[in-house]
Amino acid sequence: MAVSFSAGPTTLPESVLARVRGGLEDWERTGVSILEIGQRTPEFEALAARVERGIRALLGVPPSYAVLLLPGGASQQFAMVPMNLLGGRRRATYLCHGTWSHLAAQEAGRWCEVLDAPAADAAYVHCTVNETIEGIALDALPDADGLPVVGDWSSALFAEPLDVERFGLVYAGAQKSLGAAGLTLVLVRKDLLGEVLPGTPTAFDYRVHVASRSLHATSVPFAWFVADLMLEWMTAEGGVPALAAAARAKAELVYDALDGSSAYVTAEPSAPLRRSRTTITFALREPGRQARFLREARERGLVALEGHASVGGLRAGLYAGMPIEGAERLAAFLWDFGQPQ
Ligand code: PMP
Repeated sequence: MAVSFSAGPTTLPESVLARVRGGLEDWERTGVSILEIGQRTPEFEALAARVERGIRALLGVPPSYAVLLLPGGASQQFAMVPMNLLGGRRRATYLCHGTWSHLAAQEAGRWCEVLDAPAADAAYVHCTVNETIEGIALDALPDADGLPVVGDWSSALFAEPLDVERFGLVYAGAQKSLGAAGLTLVLVRKDLLGEVLPGTPTAFDYRVHVASRSLHATSVPFAWFVADLMLEWMTAEGGVPALAAAARAKAELVYDALDGSSAYVTAEPSAPLRRSRTTITFALREPGRQARFLREARERGLVALEGHASVGGLRAGLYAGMPIEGAERLAAFLWDFGQPQ
């Protein structure tokens, strides 16, 4: 079978995929598919409660934080964060190092003045922990001068240790490491939830989702189901410490191969950034060879290595569900392709 290096939706472990197939036929001996389960049923309520417990346990989320799984992408949080967290202030700080943080800042600019450094009257400091498109990551959390930090963890979740209490709010699209597309995880310190901006749609008000345990409107049962399976799998793998160690090992295999041949060019970010462990971007020194690279990779069962359309080049997504064998196969191919002609 081919290994997909898509930067999202992610590769899922084979054992999880097998259970997904089972649940599509007959979910938990209900006799019907997960796609046919109403979210007001006791079975679904038990699933939702299990997912919340799993996330709290795996990420060490304290009771003072709400755990939400909201329909819609992480981009929706670009609007929900200012609508809910400005709390009467008119300014917020956005630290921008790549495409996704710029897009978050641009959206926030519709609701408030956007600053590029912490200031006493800013409501919060937003940062993007891993820039999926550029393949760069924050090496350390920014100094936020005591302001609540909002972190976009979409492409870093479970691959890096996360100290939830250092954040006022964390969000991450589920399609990268929590399983299937359709939901976004939000962890938010409950005391930050006060008045929303006038005109905020009901469905964009975190308080509504806290009160309904994320089931304000019909949600995405399939994505909850896959998240449940992934949480069980990640817990059995040893939790975040083991997943973070695996992320380092997978990234090292690929970077060693990239650095070991003059055929490749990689990003060389300087502080406060470093190279990403989950979305490795690179290019061929001779860009004319890229079509051949992709063709030969595909022949070896290595697919979705194209870089994001906005920047081109090549990219390998290595999230939690990517087995070490996937990284090994990619590294072996990189070594072979990188041999002098
Ligand atoms: N933030 C980051 C860091 C991302 O990588 C992405 C998607 N690749 C997004 C936000 C947007 O996510 P979505 O497509 O779920 O809106």
